[in-house]
Amino acid sequence: MKLTKTLALALLGTSFAPLAMASSLNVMLYHHVDDHTPHSTSTRWDDFIAQLDHFEEQGYQVLDLADAIKQLQAGQALPEKSVALTFDDAFVSVCERAYPELKRRGMPFTVFVATDPIDKGYQNYCSWEQLRELADDGVVIANHTMDHDYMVRDAFTNEAWFEQAKANVEGAQQRIKQQLGSAPMLFAYPYGEYNDQLKAWIAEQGYIAFGQQSGSIGETSDWQALPRFNAAGNYASVSSLRLKFTARPLALDYSALPDPLTQQRQPLLSVELQPSSEAHYPHLQCYLNGQALELNWHSPLHFDVTPPEALGNGRHRVNCTAPHRNGSPYYWLSQQWLVVDEQ
Ligand SMILES: [Zn+2]
Repeated sequence: MKLTKTLALALLGTSFAPLAMASSLNVMLYHHVDDHTPHSTSTRWDDFIAQLDHFEEQGYQVLDLADAIKQLQAGQALPEKSVALTFDDAFVSVCERAYPELKRRGMPFTVFVATDPIDKGYQNYCSWEQLRELADDGVVIANHTMDHDYMVRDAFTNEAWFEQAKANVEGAQQRIKQQLGSAPMLFAYPYGEYNDQLKAWIAEQGYIAFGQQSGSIGETSDWQALPRFNAAGNYASVSSLRLKFTARPLALDYSALPDPLTQQRQPLLSVELQPSSEAHYPHLQCYLNGQALELNWHSPLHFDVTPPEALGNGRHRVNCTAPHRNGSPYYWLSQQWLVVDEQ
């Protein structure tokens, strides 16, 4: 069975009633689908099934990731309830359990694979043989570097970092082509970590690329820094994901957001919103690692926000949401800060 494109089916299936359309897509991020792997990166089987049931019961279209992105880039609308499913790292639970279940339901998905662990035959990972079976069945197998190491953390200290990062992407693309015959121009940054220089090179190469910050994808997205909603760990239940499945992007130019890699302990996030007849900006709130932040409004469309205390080294995320004027859905923006030492 081919995991076919669901948009055409969606249109056919509702030909008697106009299908509500939207210009946004919400992409879910999974790692393990397993009850016995580490909590924070695992979606328990019951939660996974409940999510898939929810998609079916609520009339969601699970779309092919690359097709859906291409349509958004071309300014074409998607079904109002659109999601795409992505699995990072190609853990064995994805090949052995999630895949048969998704295949049975006719839901397409994408697996971002770091090629070294597969080449080394690590125990918790799919084999190339398994990935070939998925690929032959229409599953998209895409680039997640060779070694899955941090790509930009030593960008201020190691002159060779950029050459290493490029080789890491090109090598993985080569391995996927050698093993599966072709490789799509899709990339996921390990740990969702990137900086502007790497992102610009990824764009030059022609990749669409994904981070791990939350949010919804729309016409004004930054196509090499696309958000995904984590559907694992504490965020795996349908009750916690419900608002994310229906999320919309806050209207702004995402390519104008600051470089996430910073040596500042209290980096400034300055946001210029576009006028919206839907999102209720006076109720916009931002959170840092879950804690509410004070916003500094310069005008009804321009605010900035800084961490109230010095951030430690590593990843932090500022999530901002504003409700629809009618209460829901919610409009999202997420900025990742990757703080590294000053040298
Ligand atoms: Zn990964």
